[in-house]
Order: sequence, then structure tokens, then C-alpha cells
Amino acid sequence: VIVRADLHIHTVLSPCAAPEMTPAAVVQTARARGLRLLAVCDHNAAANAGAAQRAAEPPLRVLAGIEITTAEEVHLLGVFPDAAAATAVADVVRRTLPPRNGGPAWMGPQRIVDEHDRTIGHEDRMLAAASGLTLAAAVDLVHAHGGLAVAAHVDRPSFSLISQLGLVPPGLPLDALEVSPAGRMAGKHVALEAAGLPLVCGSDAHSLDEIGDGETTLELAEVGFEPLRRALAAAGGGWVHA
Ligand SMILES: [Zn+2]
Ligand SMILES: [Zn+2]
Repeated sequence: VIVRADLHIHTVLSPCAAPEMTPAAVVQTARARGLRLLAVCDHNAAANAGAAQRAAEPPLRVLAGIEITTAEEVHLLGVFPDAAAATAVADVVRRTLPPRNGGPAWMGPQRIVDEHDRTIGHEDRMLAAASGLTLAAAVDLVHAHGGLAVAAHVDRPSFSLISQLGLVPPGLPLDALEVSPAGRMAGKHVALEAAGLPLVCGSDAHSLDEIGDGETTLELAEVGFEPLRRALAAAGGGWVHA
């Protein structure tokens, strides 16, 4: 099947996400826009991914993910076969984060929400902080739990592999590079194709209107994690497309 995937979406757990980004609202919006595969990737956390999975109805599938801020302040996406794997990784990341202690005024309440939009908790660590994991350690951690490690918005001038390190480190076993929608439009990916990694586009949506602003069209045997993994492994360098 040909599917439109947006593998980088935040929820109200992220301190910078709009209050409307509950798991149920995210999946409803994505489904209305014709997306078939999502990954919920909150900053340094995964506690809302399972609710998004439970809220999703066919033909939409939701994968559990995380966006780890590494010690180098590189954003790294982990996308996992199931919510348990994402949770296990989030637990390791969480232990390295400072307590929230209120935090700056722009920070949202870091709400943990069930699939019916009920608030069931609040994360009390500073999810906006850099974790204690180096990029190499974060990639290893994602892989140890069966996940895909994707460098996020590599073309952006902050919190990206390129902005922080200046290059795609040779030998770092990434599964893909994500280019932002603006970077894709601007053709900024051209230099990245030399890295020999698959390029994908994701919206990095922090509000409902942004869902699907960036997407990757994939040809998958069926809609799910393993077919996604196989499609990325088979894609080689350059843009992934169906
Ligand atoms: Zn990011
Ligand atoms: Zn993000």
C-alpha cells in the first residue's frame, strides 16, 4: 500500500506544544488529512504515545516514539515497534533530566492524557532540557529497544545534527535523516544526500494546523513498524518515496 506518513508529531506532553494537541485530537486531525502512519514523538518523553495508539482507528496507525535532546543538544527521534519499548527508552532519558521546578512561563503543563482527553498526570521533569545522553549513546539506546534512530530536522539552525556538530558523523548508525518541510522546499537536502542515508520529511507539528505539513510517502507491505523499517533499510541514500 502507498501511505502518507508523518513521523514527527508532538502532544500536550511537550512543554512547547499547543494545549489542543491531545492524543485524540492529533489522531482525528491526521485521519481527516488522509495520513495513514504517524509517530508521536514528545520531547524526552513517551507517556502520551500509547493513548494516541489507542485513539487511532483504521486506516490510521500510530507508532510510539520520542524526540531525545542529546547532551550535544541534537534532537534525535526514536520510533519503536510498540509503546513498551518507547516507554523503556523514555524512562532511561527521564532519569537524566533535571526537575522542572516551575520553569519559564512559556512552558506548558506537560500533560499526560488518556485516549479520551482526560488528564491523568503531569510530568515533573524538565522535558525541555538536554538529557545526559550523548548522541552516540542515544542512538544505541534506541536500537537496543528495537527502534529506528532518525536525526530530526537536520537542516534547521538549532537543535540539529548539522547545527550542533556541523556534519553527519561518519559511522553513526542512523536509520534516516529528517529534513524539515521548509528545508525540503528550499532544496537544502542536496548536500545531505551525500551522507548515504534515507531522507524523510516530518511536520514536527506542535499545533493541529501543522499536522501533515511535512510527510513522507512510502510503499509498505502493510501499515506498521516492521514494514517501515524494511522500507527505510531498502531505501539507500536520498529521498524515500513510493
Ligand atoms: Zn526538534
Ligand atoms: Zn519535534
